[in-house]
Amino acid sequence: MQRALLLDSLREELRGLDEQDLLWRVRTLQSPSAPHAKVDGKNVIVLCSNNYLGLANHPKLKQAAIAATRKYGAGSGSVRVIAGTMDLHVKLEKELAAYRGTESSITFQSGYATNLGTIMCLVDERDLIISDELNHGSIIDGCRLTKAERRVYKHKDMGDLEKQLQGTERFRRVLVITDGVFSMDGDIAPLKDIVKLAQDHNAVTYVDDAHGDGVLGENGRGITNHFHLEGKVDVDMGTFSKAFGCVGGYVVGSKDLCLYLQNKVRSYLLSGSHPPAVAGACIAALQIVQKQPSLVKKLWDNTRYFKKGLKDIGFDTGNSETPITPVIVREARKARELADNLFKLGIFVLPIVFPMVARDKARVRTIVTSAHTRKDLDVALAAFEKVGKQLALI
Ligand SMILES: *Cc1c(COP(=O)(O)O)cnc(C)c1O
Repeated sequence: MQRALLLDSLREELRGLDEQDLLWRVRTLQSPSAPHAKVDGKNVIVLCSNNYLGLANHPKLKQAAIAATRKYGAGSGSVRVIAGTMDLHVKLEKELAAYRGTESSITFQSGYATNLGTIMCLVDERDLIISDELNHGSIIDGCRLTKAERRVYKHKDMGDLEKQLQGTERFRRVLVITDGVFSMDGDIAPLKDIVKLAQDHNAVTYVDDAHGDGVLGENGRGITNHFHLEGKVDVDMGTFSKAFGCVGGYVVGSKDLCLYLQNKVRSYLLSGSHPPAVAGACIAALQIVQKQPSLVKKLWDNTRYFKKGLKDIGFDTGNSETPITPVIVREARKARELADNLFKLGIFVLPIVFPMVARDKARVRTIVTSAHTRKDLDVALAAFEKVGKQLALI
């Protein structure tokens, strides 16, 4: 009886979401994540992956994953602190710290697990978190899991952040937290100003650079490198699931911070460590990024070309400054139609609607990679222009 009631109410909720056009319709890849892929039986140009540097299907990553599996097996056998730390995990953390020029680093199963676990272990009821209103859901969830007081500042509004920082002396810790690159709009946090304001008010800074790692800075060293803020951001977090083409979250920083997180973060302590293949592939990704600066350069060449193309056609691309370029059409239904019609023409992009963005900010989000050719981008732009005219969006 209880079970039937539960299912009834879930179905009702699903119907409501469906009526508002808010249900995910998940497409399935039948080939690797690459600029050209087979998706739901159709050959398409992929413009919605986070595979910024084309590493997800890179021969060197595949080789490294296979070699690690041969030597160490399919699974790690345990959580990191019991019997699940292999020399491969340690090597990855050493190479990551060396790449980023920090004393130490710590890796987690995912970026999501990193944010939840790290935010949770840094603040409690004695503390205050001040968060940008457009921060990623994993930051929001991490903040919700703490007993800290929470305040939200207007997106990138330094006047508002300063206001929120006033009169915060009574807290033990004040944590200012921001995305490095905002995942729905592709704009960059004014990290220099944030760090300065935080320092002035004795607050701690935390940056989630999931979309900046491998993208911003010299050889993709991320937002702290981009703004020359090395050593000035207290918690510098990122992921291997985007530009680095694999999976896994991390924090880079001082030895003591990483040691503390190793001992305190529950998502680290209570969950199995990466399979050897993952650690092996991540190490290969770091090596390639450093050896081939042309990857990041090509990513930016493609970004500039495609963004200009969309603007020239007449689309509203918002405030994007990175490879994430939204095509803002406002209504959810229009975003769906745009994505559906583009798919019919062989262009795979995703509609992004409420609750991921505000109800009146529905969009199609495009992400170019270094692996796209000029021709891919020209084909995509021609399709955008055609569908944009069909739907009277331009
Ligand atoms: C993707 C993303 C995450 C989550 O990273 P995963 O490693 O995929 O779990 C966290 N924060 C931001 C800003 C992201 O874009």
